[in-house]
Amino acid sequence: MDLAIVGGGLSGPLAAVFLARRGHQVTLYERRADPRTAERVAGRSINLALSARGIDALNRIGLVDDVMAHALPMRGRMLHDRDGTTAYQSYSADGSKAINSVSRSALNDVLLGAAESTPGVSLRFEHRVTEVDETGVLRIETPDGATTTHHDLVIGMDGAYSAVRERIVRSSRTAYQQEALPWGYKELTIAAAADGGYALDPDSLHIWPRQHSMMIALPNPDHSFTATLFWPFDGEHGFDALNNETAVTKRFTEEYVDAVPLMPDLVPHFLHNPVSALVTVRLWPWTMGRIGVLGDAAHAIVPFYGQGMNCSFEDVVELDRCLERTPDVVEALAACAANRKPNTDAIADMALDNFAEMRDKVGSRWFRVAKRAEHKLERLAPSQFTSLYELVSFTTVPYAEARRRGQRQRRVLDAMADTMDTITKPFDRNKGDA
Ligand code: FAD
Repeated sequence: MDLAIVGGGLSGPLAAVFLARRGHQVTLYERRADPRTAERVAGRSINLALSARGIDALNRIGLVDDVMAHALPMRGRMLHDRDGTTAYQSYSADGSKAINSVSRSALNDVLLGAAESTPGVSLRFEHRVTEVDETGVLRIETPDGATTTHHDLVIGMDGAYSAVRERIVRSSRTAYQQEALPWGYKELTIAAAADGGYALDPDSLHIWPRQHSMMIALPNPDHSFTATLFWPFDGEHGFDALNNETAVTKRFTEEYVDAVPLMPDLVPHFLHNPVSALVTVRLWPWTMGRIGVLGDAAHAIVPFYGQGMNCSFEDVVELDRCLERTPDVVEALAACAANRKPNTDAIADMALDNFAEMRDKVGSRWFRVAKRAEHKLERLAPSQFTSLYELVSFTTVPYAEARRRGQRQRRVLDAMADTMDTITKPFDRNKGDA
């Protein structure tokens, strides 16, 4: 079949490779210039956590070694208290399993390179899709003017604000919800140490949980860290209140005292870098006639489980599985959507739950005790107990199943804690008390 993929971000090129390997002709349209040749925004390195589901997808097309060669494993969270003291929590029971910090741009380059060298794939940069209809007709803006093309099937992998999705949303049969958090995010940089090494432990994902807000930091290969602030847009702890050097320095000194000396460009970066929104997209159906959506276009989620890209890669693996059963891509895409929807709903909810956990609870006494208990149970009964975090990040157990198991296990832990409460000092399980 003659297929179009709209979007050359993270999941579009991956899907192009899988589909072309099944004998289809794939044209990929990306609105940006080729990022491998275009000038990058200087000074900002943005990274993502790659985990088991993403690694599984990359492994299936032989890219895992190329990507993992530059990945930095993070085996746990390093929690930074207000007074600068730190506490470490490993992600797995034996402390060995890691999520991996990878550069978004380096990963995008590897994926585009793989798509370009796969027979049957054509890449079209600076091609912005402006209109789609359900017969597979695309209206595209290019530097040489507007053009129209037709394909047997159009798959929109054009991200959280998808143009392809817009056509599906216009149908009266579509259920659609885009929910924005009242928090936004801003990226900053923690510089390399004076001796050129890392200023913080590079084997950890760093978190400054502050209940009303949070900062995290992931390591980069150049020994810097990309820090991301997740703050409310407005109010006392929000972005809007900080618009001058004095206010920025005061807030950071109060909230992130140990990070301030590591951020020499804090003030100019804070005042210059944009604040972006965080959205959850829920859509059904994902297909309509000869068009459909996958990845963030179908199910953008908030980033607090580090799963958006991993989940989008898993969509592509599922589409490939469906193509094993039927060679008709239109049919396979509809089947893939039906199989994925309960799972993408589950990770959307878990990502929202994890926001509260990272922001409010990770620093609390209850949370630390619960994590220790979870890890102990995992070591004692590994076949019966695997923590929710491990199921999501270190396995490919479907998200909906992981969520069910996590809820069951949580009930067991709660029952154990209730028993403990009768013999030890009670503490509030729902609030941060650190
Ligand atoms: P994208 O990667 O957004 O790609 C969409 C592409 O479509 C873009 O290249 C865009 O230019 C192109 N495009 C858009 N409109 C058009 C058009 N009209 N015509 C042509 N092209 C178009 N996920 C993780 O797994 N781990 C993490 O640690 C993680 N951290 C994150 C942190 C933050 C702050 C955010 C916001 C997200 C994070 N994510 C993470 C989520 C991850 O970035 C997304 O889930 C992932 O990029 C989705 O891939 P995609 O291909 O669907 O969309």
